[in-house]
Amino acid sequence: MNNSPQRYTITAALPYTNGPIHIGHLAGVYVPADIYARFLRMQGNDVAFVCGSDEHGVAIPMKAKKEGVTPQQIIDKYHAIIKRSFEDFGVSFDNYSRTSNKIHHKTASEFFIKLYEEGKFIEETTEQLYDAEANQFLADRFVTGTCPKCGNEEAYGDQCENCGTSLNATDLINPKSAITGAKPTMKETKHWFLPLDQYEDWLKEWILVGHKKDWKTNVYGQVKSWIDDGLRARAVTRDLDWGIPVPLKDAEGKVLYVWFDAPIGYISSTIEWAEKEGKNWEDYWKEKDTKLVHFIGKDNIVFHCIIFPIMLKAEGSYILPENVPANEFLNLEGKKLSTSKNWAVWLHEYLQDFPGQQDVLRYVLTANAPETKDNDFTWKDFQARNNNELVAVFGNFINRVLVLTDKYYAGEVPTPGEYSEVDKNTLATLRAYPAVIASSIEKYRFREAQGELMNLARLGNKYLADEEPWKMIKTDEERVKTVMYVALQISSALARLSEPFLPFTSAKLRKFLNMEQEATSLPGNQANSWNEVSTNETLLPAGHHIGKAELLFSKIEDEQIEKQLEKLEVTKAANQAENKKVEPQKETASFEDFTKMDLRAGTIVEATKMPKANKLLVLKVDTGLDIRTIVSGIAESFTPEEIIGKKVTVLINLAPRKLRGVESQGMILMTESANGKLVFLNPDTDNVDNGAVIS
Ligand SMILES: [Zn+2]
Repeated sequence: MNNSPQRYTITAALPYTNGPIHIGHLAGVYVPADIYARFLRMQGNDVAFVCGSDEHGVAIPMKAKKEGVTPQQIIDKYHAIIKRSFEDFGVSFDNYSRTSNKIHHKTASEFFIKLYEEGKFIEETTEQLYDAEANQFLADRFVTGTCPKCGNEEAYGDQCENCGTSLNATDLINPKSAITGAKPTMKETKHWFLPLDQYEDWLKEWILVGHKKDWKTNVYGQVKSWIDDGLRARAVTRDLDWGIPVPLKDAEGKVLYVWFDAPIGYISSTIEWAEKEGKNWEDYWKEKDTKLVHFIGKDNIVFHCIIFPIMLKAEGSYILPENVPANEFLNLEGKKLSTSKNWAVWLHEYLQDFPGQQDVLRYVLTANAPETKDNDFTWKDFQARNNNELVAVFGNFINRVLVLTDKYYAGEVPTPGEYSEVDKNTLATLRAYPAVIASSIEKYRFREAQGELMNLARLGNKYLADEEPWKMIKTDEERVKTVMYVALQISSALARLSEPFLPFTSAKLRKFLNMEQEATSLPGNQANSWNEVSTNETLLPAGHHIGKAELLFSKIEDEQIEKQLEKLEVTKAANQAENKKVEPQKETASFEDFTKMDLRAGTIVEATKMPKANKLLVLKVDTGLDIRTIVSGIAESFTPEEIIGKKVTVLINLAPRKLRGVESQGMILMTESANGKLVFLNPDTDNVDNGAVIS
């Protein structure tokens, strides 16, 4: 364990360049990593916060093929979008690289060569799935089939997304080529394998014993079950033409497996940064007094807790991660986020609808962070947290302080008189907050940490509400000076301590309070401004001039939320339409079979709910021959009132059946719309008499 690190290397999962970034990515990985990095910088630490786009792997050429463009065009497009989203949301990477950069190809190749030369790989010729039609081996995502573990029929050749199991393509039951749909054949090919099983004892010691107490239980549990299941050798190369070529003579047409090259991307990104900054990158990866922390989502646990550490261990000169605080998943309105189903809130779209409100999203995502279990993002909760917490607590307090300081003292911080007990307690509580919030952040409990930050805003709000300077100004002007001075100290503390969580708000508040000259949490700063909140006698000295009051947060209206919900409804309907399976054709019916059915035009003349039945309506239908009772299972799609007078098609010679004691004498013909609502089949003109024969 590394208790007094000299520097920190913080990595955030490399986003895959086959789509933009959504709220799940932000909540699970990038906001917590950013809070951590900004907090560490504000504590005066040396930090390298690195990331980059993951641009290899089979999904890229597959997507390119689908869109009729080159793989390079795909990665260029999404790299730009992703990088922009991170900048827009204030994710303060020291360096954001890409795995297609030369430096990365070089770093990954050298890493491979070193393991190869030291005999760490097993070279093996095996039979792999091969698509003879496409003339191509079917690695990873080029093949789908049934997961041997959970039975999911759409598992990929490298992983089942349903149960998270990491797979070899040959493990799949009923494999199918994703290129041609053909059933693959087997063909011999040579690959290099990393024998994970040889590191099992070491992993047990390092994680299961060494990190039992400090790793999150969800991470520890998953790692333990992997190790308990037994580890196997994993190929680190692939038959593919997109990626980093295997740097050996007899390896034509082969590239490094994307999961071998991607985590090395953290190292390459650090090298790229160190070269720009004139630093020694090896300090950040090879010195024992460096603390390495990987921020990832739970789908990446096996790669960051087992495979990458084994790679680092096998190489021999690297340090290992001290923690991998992986998060669970964030759902959207109760459903799993999905890029392919467009069930997501995309960051670039959010900004179009809520310009300048990045911090609101950061706040809500942290407040709902899936730290220990899957969690849900809902638009109603988003609105409530903004209006009831950011606006009503944080914003309200700051606004009162700014407005009153401007009104009473023309924006100058007043000189306090003698402190009352309440003042002393309030200031003492204030000074305790940096340590309280820090303690939660150091345990990777970011929602708890942000909750404490809000408690500081609540402290300020309560202090003003209790002291009521706006009333006291008429009776005791001297006392008001002290109250406002204390309130201004709280405001200044909020400006600093909010920065890791709400960097845009913090910057605004610094501007309002005219404290912009102070160090920030951005890369390159190491000012220990965090602890100064505790140690400094005063945060905003008497006589200091503050700026003009502006609103820190604004209310989010119902219409804005409705608009977002409607957007999701449209997506839902589109997905349902797409997923709808068209029923196969039934057995042939003879003309005689058809003419046996007596179909007539009719009109619904009465409709009532069937007591104690959710789906059934009891209808009286005018068939032209009679008015008869028909029980119909349409109550979930229609109210009785809206269907009275409706022209319908009725099968009148269906043998009568009793439904809940009511005899039904026929059937109304219905179909279903794309979003699952029932629809009447009716003559498309009103000019058809009841009883008209349909043939
Ligand atoms: Zn599975």
